[in-house]
Amino acid sequence: MHEVGIASEILRVGQIEAARRPGARLIAVSVRIGVLAGVDSDALRFAWEVLSQPTEGVAPRLDIEVVPRRNRCEVCSMEFFSDMLGEDCPACSSRNSRLLGGDELQLASVEVEE
Ligand SMILES: [Zn+2]
Repeated sequence: MHEVGIASEILRVGQIEAARRPGARLIAVSVRIGVLAGVDSDALRFAWEVLSQPTEGVAPRLDIEVVPRRNRCEVCSMEFFSDMLGEDCPACSSRNSRLLGGDELQLASVEVEE
C-alpha cells in the first residue's frame, strides 16, 4: 500500500509549512490526484487518518480533489474528459487524441492557523 508513503510525505510537507510560522497549527492539506496516478483515494484517506493523529487538538484535514483524464484531439484540437483509454473525440469522432492530464499527484494548498 504505497498510499502510506504518499500520506506521510503530504503530512511532512504540511508540517514543514506550519513550522515556518511560530505557533501555527496545520489545519488542512489539499491534493489533486489524477485518475491515472494509481493512487487509491480511500486508502490515502485511511493512511492519513492513522498518520495524522494529533498529540493535542484536532487532526489536520486531507482534502482530495480527483482529477479526471483529459485529452486533446489531434485533429480538431477539442479538449475533452474521458474515462477510458482511446475514447473518441466527441466533436469529430477521431481516435487520435493526446493525454493532457489525469496522471498528476499535486499538493494544491496547505492551510495553517496562527
Ligand atoms: Zn476532434
